[in-house]
Amino acid sequence: MTFEQLGLPGQLLKAVAEQGYITPTPVQQKAIPLILEGRDVLAGAQTGTGKTASFTLPLLQRLAENSDPHQKPRRVRGLILVPTRELAAQVFESVIAYGKYLPLHVEAVVGGASIGVQTRNLRRGCDIVVATPGRLIDHLQQRNVNLSNVEILVLDEADRMLDMGFMPDVRQIMSLLPKQRQSLLFSATVPNAIKSFASSVLNNPVEVEVAKQNATADNVSERVYGISREYKRELLSYLIGSNNWQQVLVFVRTKHGADRLEKQLIEDGIRTAALHGDKTQGARNKALEYFKTGKVSVLVATDIAARGLDIDELPHVVNFDLPQVPEDYIHRIGRTGRAGSSGEALSLVCPEEAWQLAEIEKLLKRQIPRVADTGYEPVSLKVADVPKKNTPDKNTGKKDYRHTKKPSTRGAKPAQGERNKRSRVKKGAR
Ligand code: AMP
Repeated sequence: MTFEQLGLPGQLLKAVAEQGYITPTPVQQKAIPLILEGRDVLAGAQTGTGKTASFTLPLLQRLAENSDPHQKPRRVRGLILVPTRELAAQVFESVIAYGKYLPLHVEAVVGGASIGVQTRNLRRGCDIVVATPGRLIDHLQQRNVNLSNVEILVLDEADRMLDMGFMPDVRQIMSLLPKQRQSLLFSATVPNAIKSFASSVLNNPVEVEVAKQNATADNVSERVYGISREYKRELLSYLIGSNNWQQVLVFVRTKHGADRLEKQLIEDGIRTAALHGDKTQGARNKALEYFKTGKVSVLVATDIAARGLDIDELPHVVNFDLPQVPEDYIHRIGRTGRAGSSGEALSLVCPEEAWQLAEIEKLLKRQIPRVADTGYEPVSLKVADVPKKNTPDKNTGKKDYRHTKKPSTRGAKPAQGERNKRSRVKKGAR
């Protein structure tokens, strides 16, 4: 199948060819014709499947088809809501890239950027808005934008919007849209909450499922390293140095943890930047830019900050901490092995995280292969050996916070020779 066969016009075909795309991805093959027909779509597609183009290309075509070039100011006819600023930036860039030969104007409306500039741009008029919900509501309250002409609404990464508590904002925005419109909902996973939300906002939708639900990309090789928490950083430095990895996205649980790990890796001589929600937008953009251009080889990120990052052919993802929400494992792994390239996803799992690992494997319905010899004293990842986080003790009724304490250092050290070998490798990596 080709993009021509999907019924896209010449201006879009030219833009797509300039992106280097030859064949439409499965989600594009399925969703584009349906959206062009005007159908509402509920698509289960994760990042990396080409989902952005699958809604942006037909959206551009439909809006261009009946665009009035004399309409002044331009009216917002396409609205794309996304959960994070980073994703907004990427979708915005995609809309510009794919729509470069069409007379449509797009604006991005996100928190963390100057509201004054956005206000000016919105008042000047545009055809498409890519927005995070909170900032869009600010503009709606200030009457900087009118959504009563929206013809197509896209909710991208709806599951994440739900997780992040954006649904009340989304509903408020939707109450200002015309009832008669086309709505498209994209979600990496489609839990029941999303299904029931979808049934309330979509009109007789067609369901498009690409990657099997709760599956990870086939071309990602996954492994679990069972390791005591205190040696995770050392093992990570060793893996990066000894394999000479040039681009690694490392996930941590907290912002503080991201800053700490960034500092430690830099001390180990590894070029590293951190990305998390406490950083200014400028600092986030800089970290991302450095990572994309190879100025740093490691980006340490929290889940929210990393959501939607689109880095071509990211080869390595490391879960330094396992995610709290099992679905996030799938999102994280979705960073690698994108659009046909292969990737490697490693999880450094300490016994205190055995429960999280068990929940992830339950969701995946399979076991992630374990690395037999990590070079460190083996640790148990059996849930039976670790009390569940904050579970009250059967006898005393007291909650167990043991996992939050610094684990014992006894019995987990690697042999001295092994540690020396690692120090040498690390130095070699500088
Ligand atoms: P997405 O799932 O929208 O985040 O897209 C993931 C990556 O796939 C992006 O880098 C896109 O530029 C790329 N991509 C999208 N469609 C295609 C295609 N048909 N062929 C090759 N790469 C694509």
